[in-house]
Amino acid sequence: MSTDPTPPDAWAYETAAVQTAIPRGLGETIGFPIHAAAAFQFDTLEEAQQEFQVNDGLSYARLQNPTVRALETRISALEGGAATVAVSTGQAATLTSILSVCRAGDHVVSASSLFGGTTGMLNNILPLMGITATLVPGTPEAIAGAMQDNTRLVWAEMISNPAGDVPDIAALAGIAHSHGALLAIDNTCGGVGYLCRPLEHGADIVSQSLTKWAGGHGTVLGGSVTVGTRHDLGGNPIYTDGGEQSVLKVRGDHALAWRQRWLGAHQIGMTLAPHSAFLIAHGLETLGLRLRRESETALALAQWLRAHEKVGRVSYPGLPDHPSHANAMRQLPRGQGAVMAFEVPDPAAFLSRVRVLRIAPNLGDVRTLVVHPWTTTHGRVPEAARYAAGVTPTTIRMSVGVEDLEDLKADIEQAL
Ligand SMILES: *Cc1c(COP(=O)(O)O)cnc(C)c1O
Repeated sequence: MSTDPTPPDAWAYETAAVQTAIPRGLGETIGFPIHAAAAFQFDTLEEAQQEFQVNDGLSYARLQNPTVRALETRISALEGGAATVAVSTGQAATLTSILSVCRAGDHVVSASSLFGGTTGMLNNILPLMGITATLVPGTPEAIAGAMQDNTRLVWAEMISNPAGDVPDIAALAGIAHSHGALLAIDNTCGGVGYLCRPLEHGADIVSQSLTKWAGGHGTVLGGSVTVGTRHDLGGNPIYTDGGEQSVLKVRGDHALAWRQRWLGAHQIGMTLAPHSAFLIAHGLETLGLRLRRESETALALAQWLRAHEKVGRVSYPGLPDHPSHANAMRQLPRGQGAVMAFEVPDPAAFLSRVRVLRIAPNLGDVRTLVVHPWTTTHGRVPEAARYAAGVTPTTIRMSVGVEDLEDLKADIEQAL
């Protein structure tokens, strides 16, 4: 089965989001058909043998499924990448990204303003495999100071939450590359290339949770890893061991993408389900529209909250007084995201009164969601690290949805 031939480079985001990767054949649906399949059949033994040698077609659905593949093609187009592997969650994407360039004895340098699950992965899970990590503030100076001889990967989040930190991708890429390491950006809050395309700024790996803005409706879990072809793996023994038979020699420009699919889907089995891929592909079709509006509403709310007498510090990278404002305006020209943090005198009382705002630990939903990070999302993070991530006992994190601005203001006003 083929997919529509597409010229993604010539299309705007909103066009590519609805036009790319629609599978043809099988009844010619306009949207994505769901291939509910565990395995695919061959006409002859020779065909099966051929497929098992190259593993780039359809055999067993842990490796590839047409619905999932179509989603991957669409994500590559929207991120401006060469290849994508879709996996079951954002956590699975993080693990796939890190293991694709690190093995026992290797080291990761990460910006410390991170999603809690990533902090846990770096501090608790990777050490089980002999991989260590150093977490430092995401400034180029601090990242450069933490690099070691065995550092293979630098990691940062595009718009961390709730602090709203925005890394200087080009600067971090320069540091990583000068040490023979790669730069991975968690682009969950960059909205699958709508607000930011990290590969265009010099990143090598784009890892993200599709659960958030891609799905967009709080109905599905997913993750993805997208790469280009310009990265240099020549100094990484994972890719060069084995001489003529090394991964780099055999796979060439596609070595990194090949290994990510092999690890995440084929071997570890964190495969995305076709029903989930279908829901995420639908979410992507309106992601640009949603995130444009959500960013506009978020900026208006941040300005309003900052002037509110009952509200303390407001943290949103679209505000001129945010430490990441310059980085944000340069790398996020379409909008500075839908997430902000603000301080209220009594978080428990505030959250007990909200009606339009919903208390839930998700991001990127069409509905506006709020949480008290100190006691929920960041509850297990050591106290010093919570403060470092911009979380205090009175912080409220808000992911702005598509509701009307005045309705949101009225709800916050009465809850304060
Ligand atoms: C939610 C999130 C993840 C993890 O994604 P899941 O789909 O929940 O596994 C990773 N990074 C960031 C920035 C997130 O917000």
